[in-house]
Amino acid sequence: MQLSDGVKSSIGPAFQPRVRYDEPMSAHTSWHAGGPADIYFSPRDRADLASFLRTVPADTPILWLGLGSNLLVRDGGLRGVVIATQGAFERLERVSETSVYAEAGVACGRLARQCIKWGLGPAEFFAGIPGTVGGALAMNAGAFGGETWTHVLEVETLDRRGRQHTRPAAEYVATYRHVSAPAADEWFIAARLSFEHSPEANPAEVKALLARRKASQPIGEWSCGSVFVNPPGDHAARLIEAAGLKGARIGDASVSMKHANFIINHGTACAADLEGLIHYVQEAVERSHGVRLTTEVRIVGEVA
Ligand SMILES: Cc1cc2nc3c(=O)[nH]c(=O)nc-3n(C[C@H](O)[C@H](O)[C@H](O)COP(=O)(O)OP(=O)(O)OC[C@H]3O[C@@H](n4cnc5c(N)ncnc54)[C@H](O)[C@@H]3O)c2cc1C
Repeated sequence: MQLSDGVKSSIGPAFQPRVRYDEPMSAHTSWHAGGPADIYFSPRDRADLASFLRTVPADTPILWLGLGSNLLVRDGGLRGVVIATQGAFERLERVSETSVYAEAGVACGRLARQCIKWGLGPAEFFAGIPGTVGGALAMNAGAFGGETWTHVLEVETLDRRGRQHTRPAAEYVATYRHVSAPAADEWFIAARLSFEHSPEANPAEVKALLARRKASQPIGEWSCGSVFVNPPGDHAARLIEAAGLKGARIGDASVSMKHANFIINHGTACAADLEGLIHYVQEAVERSHGVRLTTEVRIVGEVA
């Protein structure tokens, strides 16, 4: 019996309309690769999610999913439960002169555009991050000098027993693309974010930032953004390019010719091709520069 069989049988009829079984994760990741999730739950709202979580046995793995823009799910898929935040947690409000309440499923691009309308900033950097607020909190996503956690006042979380917590930012340690949480098995449902008055912020700035990205990154192709974090004092892209790896290919996956820290799925690459290329790049860079690159992309699931 598979680990998730017990979970499947424990899911009550009230949740069934929002549960999908053996859901292909290739449909939910920006790399368009990845095997099936045993159980994929799209909650209606936080009360619905809290009651669902109470039915999930304590030893069942749970993965929260935003827009899957920083996720490599292996071809054997995910045992346990995936919680999809998009669609359920979409509230975005200005709650004071300079603070904003954003739920986890809000797209970063929407947050950027709305802050500009409110005359708040700097939030333009969120515009080019193709994920959700929940994913940005988990990753401390950032761009062009801006970082998510610089703006966090407090977060609301749910734990695996469906209990809600409110935690000040001071309880978290956020560094470059990494966040240490005060408790295991708690996930973000919302954040209160602080910005400054920025009456000069305007949509033209967002357009300019997006144009800068388009000029240097393979936007529009299937990728997860930067595959590796930059090592201290250097750039992963520079090391990869200097090792002669632009264009290196496994199956239908290749290192982008435009930006060496991007790996592209040209259409039919599977997760094993993508992960194989990640390892190939790590080894080649280590051989030529003595630096072991570590991944920014989160790699999860079982090999096929
Ligand atoms: C073209 C492209 C450009 C990119 N550019 C940038 C960039 O400039 N800067 C940057 O930082 N990133 C960038 N990324 C990577 C990615 O967009 C960010 O890491 C983003 O924050 C991920 O958000 P997501 O909603 O897609 O998260 P997902 O990929 O769905 O999940 C990522 C991780 O966060 C966890 N997670 C998701 N939601 C929650 C939640 N509510 N609570 C707890 N954990 C959660 C997941 O379990 C997973 O471990 C880029 C990606 C692409 C494809």
